[in-house]
Amino acid sequence: MLELKTPREIAAMGVTGAFISGLLDNLTQRAQPGVNLLDLEQRARELIKERGAESCYWDYAPSFGRGPFRNVICLSVNDAVLHGLPHDYVLRDGDLLSLDIAVSIDGWVADSARSVIVGVARDEDKHLIEATERALEAGIAAALGGNRLGDISAAIGAVVTGYGYSVNTEFGGHGLGRTMHEDPHVSNIGRAGRGLKLKPGLTLALEPWIARTTDKIIFDPDGWTLRSADGSRTAHSEHTIAITDGEPLVLTARNQT
Ligand code: MG
Ligand code: MG
Repeated sequence: MLELKTPREIAAMGVTGAFISGLLDNLTQRAQPGVNLLDLEQRARELIKERGAESCYWDYAPSFGRGPFRNVICLSVNDAVLHGLPHDYVLRDGDLLSLDIAVSIDGWVADSARSVIVGVARDEDKHLIEATERALEAGIAAALGGNRLGDISAAIGAVVTGYGYSVNTEFGGHGLGRTMHEDPHVSNIGRAGRGLKLKPGLTLALEPWIARTTDKIIFDPDGWTLRSADGSRTAHSEHTIAITDGEPLVLTARNQT
């Protein structure tokens, strides 16, 4: 079922989005060489508890995972791209870290992801992250009332392929609001002018992700973490947005605090 949200409900999702944005600011600043992933998980738990928010990941048990998940954030390093299980790993100079988190406050969910480079960056990693961020911006720009879902997917896919990368179609964006995953699915590639018509009140998580030299992924033996099939590095950018009568609202926009 596809639920359109009222302006008041969208504002409530924006409160959650602003919290997530601040949490990601906090954690990305902490993500320095020598920091353990478990410390980042711990800090995320503290911030969620202090705010009275609820993790959408804790006890998450989808069909593909070795559930239930007992963490509040996904931390994916280098070739890991999605659902990275926080584990005992000390970040090293040059690591590419993706952080993905969804929480709910007063029953309303927001979901956002960022990739950052720990310490000194390689040019090829900067390029990869830039591609996901530009693809996300393009997807948001296409998220206009009257457009179709395929316009968003096509815009994201055009940027990714324009950078010379390929698109995996197994995991993409999604509707969200009262829960973390609602209809519709938002592919990271598609045909403009096709699919669901976008209406004001539709709330979506757009999330382009890329592996540098493959569109195939494999499961880590931990049962959760998805890695690029060829070991190449990966990046992921995600925002929660709302379709309006005018420009889309980016509910997890950076620099809100
Ligand atoms: Mg996410
Ligand atoms: Mg998501």
